[in-house]
Amino acid sequence: MTVTMREKGCTLSTIGFYIVLVGAVNWGLVGLGGFFGGDWNVVHMIFGSWAWLELAVYVVVGISGLMLVFGCKCDKCKVAGGQPM
Ligand SMILES: [Zn+2]
Repeated sequence: MTVTMREKGCTLSTIGFYIVLVGAVNWGLVGLGGFFGGDWNVVHMIFGSWAWLELAVYVVVGISGLMLVFGCKCDKCKVAGGQPM
């Protein structure tokens, strides 16, 4: 999955792609932080003061991930063949 391929899709699917990217990197940092004995959860660092907002970010990342798996169903993505499956 390349970024150039994503550019053919709609704005929503592009944003979703980057949200998943951020979520994936954050999970990597959580894992690395665990190995080095620190809390490297960037989402927690930014939104930690607002627990509901931090949880909302995780939910949004999850929904975006599902959108990537099943593909966006809008007309623009259909025409561009933006669906990965
Ligand atoms: Zn779309």
